[in-house]
Formats: sequence, C-alpha cells, structure tokens
Amino acid sequence: MAKPKVAFYWCASCGGCEETVVDLNEDILKVTDAVDIVLWPVALDFKKKDVEALSDGEIAVSFINGAVRLEEQEEMAELLRKKSGLVVAFGACAHLGGIPGLGNFCTRETIFQRAYKEVPSVENPEGTLPQEKTEIGIGELTLPEFYDTVKTLDQTIPVDYYLPGCPPPPDLVMNAINAILAGKLPEKGAVLAPNKAQCDTCPRAEKKPEKLSIKEIKRPYEVKLDPEKCFLEQGVICLGPATRSGCGETCIRANMPCRGCFGPVDGVLDQGARSLSMLASILGLEGEENMTEEAVQRLVEQIADPAGTFYRFSLPASLLRRKRME
Ligand code: SF4
Ligand code: SF4
Repeated sequence: MAKPKVAFYWCASCGGCEETVVDLNEDILKVTDAVDIVLWPVALDFKKKDVEALSDGEIAVSFINGAVRLEEQEEMAELLRKKSGLVVAFGACAHLGGIPGLGNFCTRETIFQRAYKEVPSVENPEGTLPQEKTEIGIGELTLPEFYDTVKTLDQTIPVDYYLPGCPPPPDLVMNAINAILAGKLPEKGAVLAPNKAQCDTCPRAEKKPEKLSIKEIKRPYEVKLDPEKCFLEQGVICLGPATRSGCGETCIRANMPCRGCFGPVDGVLDQGARSLSMLASILGLEGEENMTEEAVQRLVEQIADPAGTFYRFSLPASLLRRKRME
C-alpha cells in the first residue's frame, strides 16, 4: 500500500521549527518509514514543480511553519493547501505570527530603510533597495513582493490544526504525527497541545503566593532569580498565566520566565490583552488598596517594551493585528 505523502514547508521563520523535526532523532526514522516525504526544502531537493505535478489532495498532510510575509510564501501556502488533505500550522509564527509578526509595528518602508540604509554594518551609498523586477541586460531578475503586513497562516489559507511553540517540542510533533497516521485527530481547528495554562503545570506554582502584589517590575538580568519562586513574586514578568502549557515549561526550568510562545488557551482572542490584564490585576503596593495614578504610572514605566513583551509572539493574530499607520 502506498505510504501517505507528507510535506514540510518554511515561510517567514528562523529555521528553529525545522530543527525540531531533526530533533526527533531516531523517531524521524519511524516517520520516514511510515510516510513518503514529497517536499522538505531544508533537507531534500524537491521543487515547486514536483508539488504542482501532484493531484489535488494527494498530500495527506502539510506541516507549514513560519508567518506569511512574502508573495512567494503566500503562493506556496495556497499550492500546498490545494494539494493537501490536512494543513497543520507548525510553530508559533504560522500559528500566531511569531517574532516576524513584530514587523507589524512598522511599515515595509521603515523596515527597508532600517535594514538596507541605517544599520551600522550596512554600506549602501546609493541607497539601493530590493526591487521586485531588475533588468540586468541578459534578462529580468525578479524577487517576490514583500508585503506591508505579516499574516498568520490561517489569515492566508484555511488551516486544520495548530502545533504551537517556538519551536514545537519534539514530543508534541511526534504525538501529532502518530495521531494523523492513526486517524485519531481531535475536531478541526484544534491546537494540538493541552488546553491548560502554564501555571497549571509549572513546578513553581505550588509555592506561588495566593495573593501576588508586584511593587517593582524588573527584567531577568536585574535580579538574582530564585530558581524555586514564581517569577511574578520576584517582580519579573512571566506570561505563564496567559499561556498554554505543553512545552514542558522549558524556559521556566532554565530559570527564565515564560514569554508566551505557546499562545493562549482556547477561547482567548488576544493573548497580549489577556497578559496585560493579568499583570494589571497584580500590580500594587501591599496594604494599599487604591494606588495613586502616579504610583501606577511609575510601575507601568518599569515595563521595558510593553508591546514587545505582551505581543512578542502574537501580534498578527491579535485584535490589534498591526500598528495603525497614518
Ligand atoms: S507565573 Fe510563571 S513562574 Fe509563576 S507559576 Fe505561573 S508559569 Fe510558573
Ligand atoms: S515556557 Fe513559555 S516561552 Fe518558554 S517554551 Fe514554554 S510556552 Fe514558550
């Protein structure tokens, strides 16, 4: 019997999601035994035309990582959608926009200006910027359009399932592959990770005081972090209360607070707003019920980069979606 066909593709991402597939170690052999990989640009030499030659729906599942920033990524996502029975948004960038989604705080023009003209390591006296079409005498060179706004995968094509994380941990990936092969999948649209918050599984949760009251906000490098205490108790922002579990509390076990890469639990529309309201509810001076506006302002000003802190992985998927430009 023919093995199910599987594709892996990489849009706007750092490559970490590809690493996770490699991190399956010997399990990758079980995967390659059970399936026929028909596209995996980072590892195998298949071309777009090989995918085009397949019948519609012939690929059992496509795992697509990365946000969608370029015309080429949009084209490939649409092609893979057409050729696949299932599409899985693989990793935080495909799921929520991820780190590339922070580009939505800028415009294409400001990104080009910074990247190609202003950064100290760039020497570009003629101010050349990437062009979609360039005549070079022997023909025309083309580049895909760089869109102004970064999109999540499901803002581009219909997505069947989501594997969260930056990157998704190998055990979740293996569980998802096994569930797909066995045809034991949850309802369409599900995030293939537990529907619980990090605080529900965190090893520090037991010692977390019932009533938290943050009097001063600090960044991790400014404190000698106690490896047993809840970060919030130590005045360090941890997005655990507003983030889905399933990563094995990777950062927390390495004595770093959760930054939110697994996204929110089911039913939360905006992880950044949820995180903000979580923090607002515990900002305070012990014994002082009504803080003065000045005291609140002083605390809020201690949050370095609030937008980047609360929307680090989820700006394109949020209700804000992008910064409003005049
Ligand atoms: S806030 Fe962070 S450190 Fe504290 S219990 Fe929740 S996940 Fe753990
Ligand atoms: S602890 Fe938070 S930021 Fe770290 S891997 Fe888990 S979900 Fe992502």
